[in-house]
Amino acid sequence: MDPARFGLITHPGGALAAWIHWRVNPCPRDHCMPTKLSALEALERLREGNLRFANNLSNPDKPLSHQRREELMSGQEPFAIILGCSDSRVPAEIIFDQGLGDLFVIRVAGNIVAPSQVGSVEFAVSRYHTRLVIVLGHSRCGAVTATLETLLDGEGTESRNVAAIVNRVMPAVRGLLDTELRHDRPALLRASVRANVRASVDHLRHGSAIIESLIQDDGLVVIGAEYSLESGMVDFFDGAPGGS
Ligand SMILES: [Zn+2]
Repeated sequence: MDPARFGLITHPGGALAAWIHWRVNPCPRDHCMPTKLSALEALERLREGNLRFANNLSNPDKPLSHQRREELMSGQEPFAIILGCSDSRVPAEIIFDQGLGDLFVIRVAGNIVAPSQVGSVEFAVSRYHTRLVIVLGHSRCGAVTATLETLLDGEGTESRNVAAIVNRVMPAVRGLLDTELRHDRPALLRASVRANVRASVDHLRHGSAIIESLIQDDGLVVIGAEYSLESGMVDFFDGAPGGS
Protein backbone atom coordinates (compact mmCIF):
# COMPACT_ATOMS: atom_id res chain seq x y z
CA MET A 1 0.00 0.00 0.00
CA ASP A 2 1.30 3.41 -0.95
CA PRO A 3 0.68 5.93 1.85
CA ALA A 4 0.67 8.81 -0.62
CA ARG A 5 -2.16 7.14 -2.51
CA PHE A 6 -4.30 7.43 0.57
CA GLY A 7 -3.50 11.08 1.14
CA LEU A 8 -1.49 10.38 4.27
CA ILE A 9 1.27 12.76 3.35
CA THR A 10 -1.13 15.66 3.47
CA HIS A 11 -2.90 14.71 6.67
CA PRO A 12 -2.19 16.22 10.07
CA GLY A 13 0.92 15.12 11.93
CA GLY A 14 0.88 11.73 13.53
CA ALA A 15 -1.31 9.94 11.00
CA LEU A 16 1.55 8.50 9.01
CA ALA A 17 3.41 7.34 12.12
CA ALA A 18 0.26 5.67 13.43
CA TRP A 19 -0.34 4.00 10.08
CA ILE A 20 3.21 2.65 9.93
CA HIS A 21 2.99 1.41 13.53
CA TRP A 22 -0.25 -0.39 12.76
CA ARG A 23 1.06 -1.97 9.56
CA VAL A 24 4.18 -3.23 11.31
CA ASN A 25 2.38 -4.43 14.38
CA PRO A 26 -1.38 -4.63 13.81
CA CYS A 27 -2.01 -7.09 16.62
CA PRO A 28 0.43 -6.54 19.48
CA ARG A 29 -1.16 -9.35 21.45
CA ASP A 30 -2.20 -12.84 20.54
CA HIS A 31 -5.11 -12.91 18.11
CA CYS A 32 -5.65 -9.18 18.56
CA MET A 33 -7.03 -9.87 22.04
CA PRO A 34 -6.25 -6.68 23.95
CA THR A 35 -6.40 -8.33 27.35
CA LYS A 36 -5.50 -6.60 30.57
CA LEU A 37 -4.12 -3.45 29.04
CA SER A 38 -3.04 -0.67 31.35
CA ALA A 39 -4.91 2.63 31.07
CA LEU A 40 -2.03 4.13 29.09
CA GLU A 41 -1.83 1.20 26.69
CA ALA A 42 -5.59 1.31 26.21
CA LEU A 43 -5.49 5.05 25.54
CA GLU A 44 -2.79 4.57 22.93
CA ARG A 45 -4.89 1.92 21.24
CA LEU A 46 -7.87 4.27 21.09
CA ARG A 47 -5.71 7.10 19.75
CA GLU A 48 -4.31 4.91 16.99
CA GLY A 49 -7.75 3.60 16.07
CA ASN A 50 -9.22 7.09 15.90
CA LEU A 51 -6.35 8.26 13.69
CA ARG A 52 -7.05 5.39 11.31
CA PHE A 53 -10.77 6.24 11.25
CA ALA A 54 -10.25 9.98 10.77
CA ASN A 55 -7.86 9.32 7.89
CA ASN A 56 -10.18 6.82 6.22
CA LEU A 57 -7.76 3.96 6.90
CA SER A 58 -9.94 1.76 9.11
CA ASN A 59 -8.45 -1.67 9.69
CA PRO A 60 -10.13 -4.09 7.25
CA ASP A 61 -8.98 -7.01 9.41
CA LYS A 62 -10.42 -5.85 12.70
CA PRO A 63 -12.08 -8.65 14.62
CA LEU A 64 -15.68 -8.77 13.42
CA SER A 65 -15.62 -12.29 12.04
CA HIS A 66 -17.53 -15.44 12.82
CA GLN A 67 -14.29 -16.77 14.38
CA ARG A 68 -14.11 -13.74 16.66
CA ARG A 69 -17.71 -14.30 17.76
CA GLU A 70 -16.81 -17.85 18.69
CA GLU A 71 -13.76 -16.70 20.64
CA LEU A 72 -15.99 -14.38 22.63
CA MET A 73 -18.48 -17.08 23.55
CA SER A 74 -16.48 -17.89 26.66
CA GLY A 75 -16.19 -14.32 27.88
CA GLN A 76 -15.07 -10.78 27.19
CA GLU A 77 -12.16 -8.58 28.19
CA PRO A 78 -12.93 -5.11 26.83
CA PHE A 79 -9.85 -2.88 27.08
CA ALA A 80 -11.76 0.40 27.51
CA ILE A 81 -15.11 1.62 28.75
CA ILE A 82 -16.75 4.38 26.74
CA LEU A 83 -19.56 6.49 28.17
CA GLY A 84 -20.76 8.35 25.11
CA CYS A 85 -23.74 10.17 23.64
CA SER A 86 -26.46 8.24 21.80
CA ASP A 87 -26.03 10.49 18.75
CA SER A 88 -26.07 8.33 15.61
CA ARG A 89 -22.98 10.12 14.30
CA VAL A 90 -20.78 9.03 17.22
CA PRO A 91 -20.67 5.21 17.39
CA ALA A 92 -17.72 4.37 19.63
CA GLU A 93 -16.62 1.16 17.95
CA ILE A 94 -16.50 2.85 14.55
CA ILE A 95 -14.78 6.12 15.44
CA PHE A 96 -12.12 4.18 17.41
CA ASP A 97 -11.89 1.49 14.70
CA GLN A 98 -12.39 -1.43 17.09
CA GLY A 99 -13.99 -4.85 16.77
CA LEU A 100 -16.19 -7.21 18.71
CA GLY A 101 -15.32 -7.51 22.38
CA ASP A 102 -12.96 -4.52 22.41
CA LEU A 103 -15.08 -1.79 24.01
CA PHE A 104 -17.65 -1.76 26.80
CA VAL A 105 -19.95 1.01 25.62
CA ILE A 106 -22.60 2.92 27.55
CA ARG A 107 -24.57 5.37 25.43
CA VAL A 108 -27.10 7.89 26.66
CA ALA A 109 -28.19 11.24 25.24
CA GLY A 110 -25.83 13.94 26.47
CA ASN A 111 -23.38 11.39 27.93
CA ILE A 112 -24.88 12.14 31.33
CA VAL A 113 -24.05 10.23 34.48
CA ALA A 114 -27.00 8.87 36.45
CA PRO A 115 -26.96 5.86 38.81
CA SER A 116 -27.37 3.30 36.03
CA GLN A 117 -24.33 4.70 34.19
CA VAL A 118 -22.23 4.62 37.35
CA GLY A 119 -23.41 1.06 37.96
CA SER A 120 -22.48 0.03 34.42
CA VAL A 121 -18.96 1.40 34.86
CA GLU A 122 -18.63 -0.25 38.28
CA PHE A 123 -19.72 -3.54 36.74
CA ALA A 124 -17.15 -3.39 33.95
CA VAL A 125 -14.18 -2.25 36.03
CA SER A 126 -14.91 -4.91 38.63
CA ARG A 127 -15.82 -7.80 36.35
CA TYR A 128 -13.43 -7.30 33.44
CA HIS A 129 -10.50 -5.46 35.03
CA THR A 130 -10.86 -2.70 32.42
CA ARG A 131 -8.67 0.19 33.49
CA LEU A 132 -9.61 3.04 31.15
CA VAL A 133 -12.91 4.94 31.18
CA ILE A 134 -13.59 7.60 28.55
CA VAL A 135 -16.46 10.08 28.79
CA LEU A 136 -17.03 10.98 25.17
CA GLY A 137 -18.92 14.14 24.27
CA HIS A 138 -19.11 15.56 20.78
CA SER A 139 -19.52 18.79 18.85
CA ARG A 140 -23.05 20.00 18.06
CA CYS A 141 -24.57 17.77 20.75
CA GLY A 142 -28.37 17.90 20.61
CA ALA A 143 -28.85 17.21 24.32
CA VAL A 144 -26.55 20.08 25.28
CA THR A 145 -28.23 22.33 22.71
CA ALA A 146 -31.65 21.47 24.17
CA THR A 147 -30.36 22.35 27.63
CA LEU A 148 -29.13 25.76 26.45
CA GLU A 149 -32.45 26.41 24.74
CA THR A 150 -34.24 25.62 27.98
CA LEU A 151 -32.01 27.96 29.95
CA LEU A 152 -31.85 30.82 27.46
CA ASP A 153 -35.15 30.66 25.65
CA GLY A 154 -37.41 28.91 28.14
CA GLU A 155 -38.07 26.18 25.61
CA GLY A 156 -38.89 23.37 28.00
CA THR A 157 -39.97 19.86 27.12
CA GLU A 158 -43.29 18.32 28.03
CA SER A 159 -41.66 14.97 28.67
CA ARG A 160 -40.55 14.28 32.22
CA ASN A 161 -38.09 11.76 30.85
CA VAL A 162 -36.41 14.14 28.45
CA ALA A 163 -36.39 16.76 31.20
CA ALA A 164 -34.48 14.28 33.36
CA ILE A 165 -31.65 14.36 30.82
CA VAL A 166 -31.71 18.15 30.40
CA ASN A 167 -31.71 18.59 34.17
CA ARG A 168 -28.55 16.46 34.43
CA VAL A 169 -26.75 18.66 31.90
CA MET A 170 -27.98 21.96 33.37
CA PRO A 171 -25.70 22.35 36.41
CA ALA A 172 -22.62 21.88 34.22
CA VAL A 173 -23.48 24.68 31.80
CA ARG A 174 -25.48 27.17 33.87
CA GLY A 175 -22.41 29.09 35.02
CA LEU A 176 -21.35 29.76 31.42
CA LEU A 177 -24.46 31.89 30.92
CA ASP A 178 -22.96 34.50 33.25
CA THR A 179 -20.01 34.99 30.91
CA GLU A 180 -19.57 36.73 27.58
CA LEU A 181 -20.25 33.39 25.91
CA ARG A 182 -23.93 34.14 26.42
CA HIS A 183 -23.76 36.43 23.37
CA ASP A 184 -22.06 33.87 21.13
CA ARG A 185 -24.23 30.77 20.77
CA PRO A 186 -21.77 28.61 18.78
CA ALA A 187 -18.97 29.33 21.26
CA LEU A 188 -21.36 28.79 24.16
CA LEU A 189 -22.32 25.38 22.77
CA ARG A 190 -18.67 24.38 22.32
CA ALA A 191 -17.82 25.39 25.89
CA SER A 192 -20.97 23.72 27.20
CA VAL A 193 -20.14 20.39 25.55
CA ARG A 194 -16.78 20.36 27.32
CA ALA A 195 -18.24 21.53 30.63
CA ASN A 196 -20.77 18.71 30.44
CA VAL A 197 -18.04 16.14 29.77
CA ARG A 198 -16.01 17.46 32.71
CA ALA A 199 -19.06 17.19 34.98
CA SER A 200 -19.62 13.57 33.96
CA VAL A 201 -15.92 12.78 34.48
CA ASP A 202 -16.02 14.39 37.91
CA HIS A 203 -19.16 12.46 38.82
CA LEU A 204 -17.54 9.16 37.85
CA ARG A 205 -14.30 9.93 39.64
CA HIS A 206 -15.97 10.93 42.90
CA GLY A 207 -19.48 9.47 42.84
CA SER A 208 -18.59 5.84 43.45
CA ALA A 209 -16.53 4.28 46.22
CA ILE A 210 -15.62 1.37 43.95
CA ILE A 211 -14.35 3.59 41.13
CA GLU A 212 -12.58 5.98 43.49
CA SER A 213 -10.77 3.12 45.19
CA LEU A 214 -9.60 1.64 41.88
CA ILE A 215 -8.36 5.08 40.75
CA GLN A 216 -6.32 5.43 43.93
CA ASP A 217 -4.95 1.93 44.20
CA ASP A 218 -5.26 -0.01 40.98
CA GLY A 219 -4.47 2.10 37.93
CA LEU A 220 -7.99 3.04 36.86
CA VAL A 221 -8.10 6.28 34.85
CA VAL A 222 -11.16 8.34 33.86
CA ILE A 223 -10.61 10.72 30.94
CA GLY A 224 -12.84 13.30 29.28
CA ALA A 225 -12.83 13.54 25.49
CA GLU A 226 -14.66 15.29 22.68
CA TYR A 227 -15.32 13.90 19.21
CA SER A 228 -15.39 16.40 16.37
CA LEU A 229 -18.13 15.76 13.83
CA GLU A 230 -16.18 18.03 11.52
CA SER A 231 -12.77 16.30 11.57
CA GLY A 232 -13.54 12.82 12.87
CA MET A 233 -10.85 13.31 15.52
CA VAL A 234 -11.20 12.71 19.27
CA ASP A 235 -9.53 15.22 21.59
CA PHE A 236 -8.73 13.66 24.98
CA PHE A 237 -8.82 17.00 26.76
CA ASP A 238 -9.45 16.15 30.40
CA GLY A 239 -7.11 13.94 32.37
CA ALA A 240 -5.13 12.32 29.56
CA PRO A 241 -1.42 11.89 30.34
CA GLY A 242 0.56 14.08 27.99
CA GLY A 243 -2.51 16.17 27.07
CA SER A 244 -4.51 15.66 23.92
ZN1 LIG B 1 -24.97 14.32 21.80
